[in-house]
Amino acid sequence: MSTALSILNRVFGYPAFRGRQADVVDHVTGGGDALVLMPTGGGKSLCYQIPALLRRGTGVVVSPLIALMHDQVMALREVGVRTAYLNSALSATEASEVEQAFVTGELDLIYVAPERLVTARFMALLARTELALFAIDEAHCVSQWGHDFRPEYIALSVLHERFPAVPRIALTATADAQTRAEIVARLQLEGARQFVSSFDRPNIRYQIVEKNDPRKQLLAFIQDQHPHDAGIVYCLSRRKVEETALWLTKQGIAALAYHAGMDVGIRRRHQDRFLREEGIVMVATIAFGMGIDKPDVRFVAHLDLPKSIEGYYQETGRAGRDGAPADAWMAYGLNDVVQQRRMIESSEAEPQFKRMAQSKLEALLALCEATRCRRVLLLDYFGETAEPCGNCDVCLVPPETWDGTVAAQKALSAIYRTGGRFGAGHLIDVLRGQSTDKIQQWRHQQLSVFGVGSDLDEKAWRAVLRQLMAHGYVSVDHEAFGALTLTDQSRAVLKGEVQVWLRKDLDLKPAKRQSGRSLTTLENIEDEQLFEQLKIWRQAVARALNVPAYVIFHNTTLIEVAQRHPATLTALGEISGIGAHKLEAYGADMLTIINASD
Ligand code: ADP
Ligand code: ZN
Repeated sequence: MSTALSILNRVFGYPAFRGRQADVVDHVTGGGDALVLMPTGGGKSLCYQIPALLRRGTGVVVSPLIALMHDQVMALREVGVRTAYLNSALSATEASEVEQAFVTGELDLIYVAPERLVTARFMALLARTELALFAIDEAHCVSQWGHDFRPEYIALSVLHERFPAVPRIALTATADAQTRAEIVARLQLEGARQFVSSFDRPNIRYQIVEKNDPRKQLLAFIQDQHPHDAGIVYCLSRRKVEETALWLTKQGIAALAYHAGMDVGIRRRHQDRFLREEGIVMVATIAFGMGIDKPDVRFVAHLDLPKSIEGYYQETGRAGRDGAPADAWMAYGLNDVVQQRRMIESSEAEPQFKRMAQSKLEALLALCEATRCRRVLLLDYFGETAEPCGNCDVCLVPPETWDGTVAAQKALSAIYRTGGRFGAGHLIDVLRGQSTDKIQQWRHQQLSVFGVGSDLDEKAWRAVLRQLMAHGYVSVDHEAFGALTLTDQSRAVLKGEVQVWLRKDLDLKPAKRQSGRSLTTLENIEDEQLFEQLKIWRQAVARALNVPAYVIFHNTTLIEVAQRHPATLTALGEISGIGAHKLEAYGADMLTIINASD
């Protein structure tokens, strides 16, 4: 009789379960409902794939990611799991073939788009078929607060009503308590056991730098730390996505653009190239990324501030799913704070929603201005305690702090004396005693605060204002186009009742890290060459099957092959990532390549 572990070894070729995988698999295999919270890359898929293989009948996987279903299904077929998908990309004939295979019990797993699942036609098929389980992937899509909300997900509660005996497993990488509660309520998972994993991603190095010249900073980051690596660059607006992609291309980086306003065909092509070619940098809005299971994304960069820590963590989580070192890099400045605050203030949303958006932004700003380990703060946000990590910019180069109380008082006075009607640029001119037209026009040279801040340069004042905003001592008036105003907390600073400690901005360059291929521990040139040979072979196989190379084997698997030079099929089969089916399909070819290199 198969056990969960034997399936993990034989089918998937992995030696051991990770984290809570084994617990989840046992629970669901035994017929229990589950809610699984694991970070991106944590290994959620096996949590439903293995129970589906162990239980009688077919596992039905609901996924919103139509564009990725093909690759997901091909990856399962590669390990010998009988899988198909049903979505709008199939022709009527193809769809009816899949339906036929489904009702006759020829499938281990079927992937379905949510809008198709709830149709009368599919419900009738479900009623005729033996079902192993329902897996609801990306379950946070039921959350109306989140940016991935899919109305079709709400209707999924019908599964429980119509098929109460079939176990359900909902999975997500979104960890906040509110989203979790919403998933439970909307999918009627009150009786489900919750499996919450650690959200730590130790292989990701977090860095947040002060924004000066963001494009140049980004280029330097890519050139220094990630030449020829695949990465994702997030921007807020579609226009900025296009401009940045074009600019990077001109600088010799293989960059592509992706946003929801682009032609569907081009978008699709760009996504395919990102998945199938090596070393592509995707410049994108947050429309890109959910479900992208490319394992070797080496960096995620943010040129604009995300809206929340959840967003930041999901986006950065797309780096380093293979467990090898990866970077999360962000450039952040005063204007980001102004812009985000203004977007929240000027939105048409309910007051309750705005308040929540504000508090989410506050938490993110605290992360940006952190003077202690960023990972400790991130994990704390998800309710976990951690020790300083030694792998974030703050741990690597601890920032200095200075007593900014007097500077803060000067800045707040300048806001007060000018009536709270001006943006940062003009306030800094007032503080520094610059004689501009605007100063003349408003007669601001007559104010007592005029020139009181000439000891700091413009950059330093921007950093002061930015931090005052992040700490809630200054707010933004959206109706006055980003004018800075005082808050309830400002008084205490002006009266000298609180001290304000500010962070000194550093032009920090954490120790340069080896990247890309050299991340591997291939010690000699022969191993390197074998790895290259195996990659060339893998590329040819992947092309023939029209799948990304990592569907055939991950780099981590090929690296292990190159290190160990297995001489027999048995030895090859012991390598992580090589299961029985792949061994049979590719073992002989691989041994030929290995032998030729010895
Ligand atoms: P998630 O859906 O949680 O983001 P995946 O299920 O795609 O993560 O898994 C992330 C990667 O880790 C995949 O490449 C997967 O093959 C690998 N993986 C998952 N579980 C294990 C395991 N127990 N041992 C080795 N690799 C694993
Ligand atoms: Zn740290």
